[in-house]
Amino acid sequence: MIDNYKFTVTERFLRYVQIDTQSDPQSNSFPSTEKQKVLSNLLVNELKAVGITDAHVDAFGYVFATIPSNSNKKIPTICFCSHVDTAPDCSGTNVKPLLHKHYSGEDIILPDDVTQILSVKNYPYLKEHIGASIITASGNTLLGADDKSGVAIIMDTANYLIQHPEIKHGKIKILFTPDEEVGRGTEKLDLKKLEADYAYTLDGGEAGTLEDETFSADGMIIHIHGVSAHPGYAKDKLVNALKIAGEILAALPKHEFSPETTSHREGFIHPVRMEGIAEKATIEFIVRDFVTANLEMHETRLKNIVSEVLSKYPNVIVDFEVKEQYRNMKEILDQHPQVVAFAEEAYNRAGLNVVNEPIRGGTDGSKLSFMGLPCPNIFTGMQVIHSKLEWIAVKDMEKSVEVLIHLVQVWEEKSNNGYTG
Ligand SMILES: [Zn+2]
Repeated sequence: MIDNYKFTVTERFLRYVQIDTQSDPQSNSFPSTEKQKVLSNLLVNELKAVGITDAHVDAFGYVFATIPSNSNKKIPTICFCSHVDTAPDCSGTNVKPLLHKHYSGEDIILPDDVTQILSVKNYPYLKEHIGASIITASGNTLLGADDKSGVAIIMDTANYLIQHPEIKHGKIKILFTPDEEVGRGTEKLDLKKLEADYAYTLDGGEAGTLEDETFSADGMIIHIHGVSAHPGYAKDKLVNALKIAGEILAALPKHEFSPETTSHREGFIHPVRMEGIAEKATIEFIVRDFVTANLEMHETRLKNIVSEVLSKYPNVIVDFEVKEQYRNMKEILDQHPQVVAFAEEAYNRAGLNVVNEPIRGGTDGSKLSFMGLPCPNIFTGMQVIHSKLEWIAVKDMEKSVEVLIHLVQVWEEKSNNGYTG
């Protein structure tokens, strides 16, 4: 048995990040990589070691566990959720976390790749942690704070609640998902089995941020069917699909409508993948906006750009495929205002001012919300994610645990007042 009682959130985090759990967007299996289960199984063992007896991993790699209610009131069941996988964008093999105690505010040169320099100038949030402890990777890999900080925070909260039965709370579900980073985190999730009324993902950035709004997202694939001919005898016949794909990309707006030229509440389209041969080619786009209705507008605009290019090539056929990816969770959360309101109350009790920022991306929470489990996103402290410069401050993780301890109590207290879900 692991003596799991004594770990701090930081000790948990330092252990979890050393386990390689990178997911793979090219894989068709589920979970996309088997190695994610190594962490999932470890988490189950640790949950069991503190007495959470129903903890288990299902066939798909989801971890489920229950902390029973210790209150007489009828309280909605809330779930804390985070993902075990790390982003495919950056290596997650042999992560060597470095704990920088009493961070001085000077540049941190990562030892395994001295070109990787973390500086206050580029990352001003570092300033708030001068004199305190921060954690970085060593230069060759990401750190994996996204989302092992969330995992560590939930594990530490669970442990704390078990050790402190005087803290009253309703039934709490714990959920760890695989494959969030490849957009498949909820694909095989059995929500009925989870039996939760509301959920919170622990997958956000700076202390105090509370995210209840995400992009709405579609994928759009353009299939270009060129005209093939033997290249030796192709004069006036051949139309090369690859060249048309190039023209389409060149025709995209250069000063707006793209991720590199938009911020805040602006939407965009973004080519993410292209493949093909002379005869046919495909370009995959992602389409993003906070207003779901705008997606169609953006898709029409893209179609018009393509039509303009094609007007010169009457024999070329193009078809479009649009796939819904996820939707802005605010559409659902606005129907259950207590979920965000109670979180705000918990932040305040932990001494934090709430910063509501729309996420220019999606989380498992957006999908969960639309699957029937309203689910805003709580900070963990993670910074510069998906990169070798990823870092996190110890006190932010500790603050997040504090927020969760307050949050379960807010739900218990308010369940007197008619807020029973
Ligand atoms: Zn994440």
